[in-house]
Order: sequence, then C-alpha cells, then structure tokens
Amino acid sequence: MRFSQLLIPTLKEDPAEAEIISHKLLLRAGFIRKLTSGTYTYLPLGLAAIKKVEQIVREEMNRAGAQEILMPMVQPASLWEESGRWDVYGKELLRFTDRNGRNSCLGPTHEEVITDLVRMNVQSYKELPLNLYQIQTKYRDEARPRFGLMRGREFIMKDAYSFDATDKEAEQSYHKMNQAYHRIFERCGLRFRAVEADSGAIGGSFSHEFMVLADTGEDTIVTCKNCQYAANMEKATCVPASKSKDEPQELTKIETPGKRKVKVVCEFLDIEPRQLVKTLIYIVNDKPVAVLLRGDHEVEEVKLANILGVSDEDLRMADDKEVYDATGTPTGYLGPIGLEIQVVADTEVATMVNFAVGANDKNYHVVNCNMGRDFTPTMTGDVRKVTDNDRCILCGGDLVLTKGIEVGHIFKLGTKYSASMNATFLDAKSQEQPFIMGCYGIGVSRIVAAAIEQNFDKDGMIFPIPIAPVQVLILNLGLKDTEITEAANTIYADLLKKGIEVILDDRDERPGVKFKDADLIGIPFRVTVGKNFNKDGSIEIRTRANGDVTTTTFADSVAEITTMVEKGLNQ
Ligand SMILES: [Zn+2]
Repeated sequence: MRFSQLLIPTLKEDPAEAEIISHKLLLRAGFIRKLTSGTYTYLPLGLAAIKKVEQIVREEMNRAGAQEILMPMVQPASLWEESGRWDVYGKELLRFTDRNGRNSCLGPTHEEVITDLVRMNVQSYKELPLNLYQIQTKYRDEARPRFGLMRGREFIMKDAYSFDATDKEAEQSYHKMNQAYHRIFERCGLRFRAVEADSGAIGGSFSHEFMVLADTGEDTIVTCKNCQYAANMEKATCVPASKSKDEPQELTKIETPGKRKVKVVCEFLDIEPRQLVKTLIYIVNDKPVAVLLRGDHEVEEVKLANILGVSDEDLRMADDKEVYDATGTPTGYLGPIGLEIQVVADTEVATMVNFAVGANDKNYHVVNCNMGRDFTPTMTGDVRKVTDNDRCILCGGDLVLTKGIEVGHIFKLGTKYSASMNATFLDAKSQEQPFIMGCYGIGVSRIVAAAIEQNFDKDGMIFPIPIAPVQVLILNLGLKDTEITEAANTIYADLLKKGIEVILDDRDERPGVKFKDADLIGIPFRVTVGKNFNKDGSIEIRTRANGDVTTTTFADSVAEITTMVEKGLNQ
C-alpha cells in the first residue's frame, strides 16, 4: 500500500470533541471519522487494526471448538417478549416498527435469536455441546456516547453462546472459553487480567471480566501482590478486621454544632475516621434503607443491591429532603440508635467497639456506641468497596487497586433464556430438559481503543505488533532522488513478497511531516531511506515501542526487517 493513495487523514491538533487519549489519537491518526454521536466510519488503518483483532478472536474461538455464524442485526420484538426483556431492557434498545407494523429492534445482544435458533434445530443431547459465535456490529442506544470507540452506539463485537446438557458440561464450556480468552488477549499483545465479576442472581464464580490494564481505565480492579486473586470492585472481598478487644465504654452524647462531614466531626472529636460509623440513607424501590459504614469506607452499591435482593438500578442515595422525611434528622447527624427503618450494617462495623455515630439530633453526635448493645441492624454483610489498605481474602497479602478497561466478559447463564423461551432437548432418558447456556462477549473495536490507552506516548500510538494495521512503514525521504526512490521501492516490493505488511510513504511531503505521521499512526517498525543511503548506503530501522534504531545496509535490510517483524509477532 502506498501512503499517497491511502485515505489517512491525519490531523496536527487534538480534536476538541475527544476527551480520552484513544479517541484523540484515533481521530488524529486518521483511523476513524465520526458520522453521528457514537457512530464512526472505520478508515483503512482503523479497519485494518480491527480485522487483526477479529482474526485472532476467530482463530482462537475455532480452536476452542466454537462455530462461526452470522445472525440478523434486526430482531423481532416477539422474541424479546418471550424472554421478558422487551419491557425491562430500557432505552438502550433501539426499537422501531417496520412497514407491516411489526415491532423490531436493533440487536444489542443476541441471546433471544440464538435461543430461538437452537430450540428449532437441536433436539437431542447427542447434538450437544454446541458453541456458536458471530462477529458483528451491535447497536446500543447509549444515553451519552463518548470516548470514541470506547463507548459508542455502534460497535463490533464477538458474541458466543454455549448450549450444554448438564451443569457440569456447561462449566467445561465456560472453562474452555476462559482459556480461549486468555489466549486471545495474550496474542493481541496486551497486558490484561481476568477478574472475578459479579454474576448477580447466578452466584458462584461463573462470571469473569477481562480487563486491559491502563491508567486511564474506568474500572477499578483489585489484585493481590502475593497471589493470583483478581476481582473487579463490585465483586472484590477482603479479610475482615478482627474484633476489637477494647472494653465497651459508656454511651455519651456530645454537642457537635455544625459538624456534619466525617472529617470535620472526627477533627472535632479528636478521633480517626476509622473510629466513626457513618449512616447513609438509600432509597431502595421507593423505601428508605440506612447503611452503616466505617467512616473511611465507601458503599459498593452492587454488593448492597445483592444483599437486599434487588438490582443496583433499584437503589440510589437519598437526597437531603428524603433523609429528613425518613428519619426526622438532617443529614450529618444520623445514627443507628433508635432508627426505625431497615438498617444494613457493613461487616466491618460488627468488629468495632466504642465508635462515634450521629445522635439523630441536630448538632449532636454520640461516642462509645456499640452494635448489639445500643442498636441491632436488620442485617449485616459486606457492602463496602475494598481499599488498598485491605488484605487478600485468599492469602492475606496486600491488595492493590489498579485501573482497567473491560474488553471481554464470560458468563454462565444457566437456564435463564432456555426456560423462559421453552428451549429444550431430550436427554438420554428421553426427558425434556432446558439447555444450560453460557454467553461470551468480546468488544472487538473496543480492544483497538484499549490497546491505544495502554500503549501510547506524546507522539502517538504504539501498536502491539500483532494488532497493528501493518507491521512496517517505509519512509522514502528522497522522492526526487532516483537512487533513494529505487531502493525504497525495492525494499517495499521485497517485503511484500515475504508476506510482510507494509506501507510505503511515497508522499511529496517534508521529512518532518513523514516522521511525525509515522509516530502518530504507531506502526511497529519504521524504515528510513534518506540522505544516509546516498552517503554510505545505510538504511535505518526504528522500533516504535522503544525507539531503538538499527542501521543496516540495503543488501541486508529486507532480511533484517523480516527477522525483526517475525520476532515481534512471536513474542
Ligand atoms: Zn492473595
């Protein structure tokens, strides 16, 4: 491919609309262009990177025994009504009516369609296990699409669905996908972690998220310094503190005028936030619920929702008026003593002795409060976020919080869809059984964005070799010089013959422009044929990732470049 003929509309400045680095660089490097909010055209380089990821995903899915299919993007509402999701999916589902008045939607996911396919075509346990996948454009009507390919309305996804006869076999299918996903992200050249994720109603450890590690990531991952433990924040647990051995002291009410915030109250009482229990009011399905938490801890709403048996969309923090209506006390002076609503205490509170709480009286707190003696919560459980002061639940080691970008999610579904949609097979005893399902997603276009978030510098992208649009970029820096041009053209042709993917920058541009664009688009190896070639016949090969420069001769250049590319691909 010749740069002069490719559509690579690079930009000198960061586009104002882009907030995060991958979005900025994808636009600047001419990989994508926006059509409307959250939808993008993939230009040649952007599409080439996406195709690389797709190919790795495809090879590993096939290797794991999955079969590729392609389902329609437009789905009938009737299937979603069967599964019960038509009414609960919400506004992210783009719904419309066709010319015959049939309700339809654009597929954000394909559980319904695949369950329908399999119930119509698979009858016997002998045809199981079955794992079907597709790589397809999905549509989700995001309220606030942003961050370029990170959270668009339209995106390319690989979604796979497994069907098994027994729970045990379903677990094996899940395990296979877990292994395939590890291989996929390794082969993409990304630093990643598989973390335990919240699996809601299903429970157990049958949900894992695959996170690309990047400081700019939106998700927090909890890992152990000492062992393999890794979980996302919603799921992460830690060793609870041991029960304090202090003797309970006498409950004492203290005037704390105007002191409402944890920090201010603690300074006033001359205690640490870890010696105070804060009382937060949530509205859960329109009812107030108090949550008790150590002063320096934060609520993890997914854990709170799980313990209350609701969805995390069913709860939110109460505003000041709701707090007052529910408790008769203004925010800042709430406490558990005498509180007449449902009270959830975090596990940690049970280990504390002689802590401070609000007195349920404006301008007052009490000290030396003790759970069990002074109040009894409705329930106790782990409802807080783990911190980097906590210890690993498996080995007691130090926990570390890092940032990540979710690029894959595997999930054991069980019979959620097969039961509601009556998708059954006949088992060995000719009994009808619902299929046991799993679903497995990978954000293909998102991986490209995540790879950039993980690998960039001030000059541009630094693509991992396996998913770079091409591996080599040759700069011809003497377009009017016959010798330089001939050498560059020959290297280009010879590399192509060797099966190396290469772009020849044959544009009539200054060297400075070519160097800048080369760094920006992040091709792993840059080969420069310029002034030095005329002087002493030398050609320069620069590795984008570390800036290492190798000088070689024209005669050796193709062999040298080929070796470097192959080494890079096999790392
Ligand atoms: Zn550990």
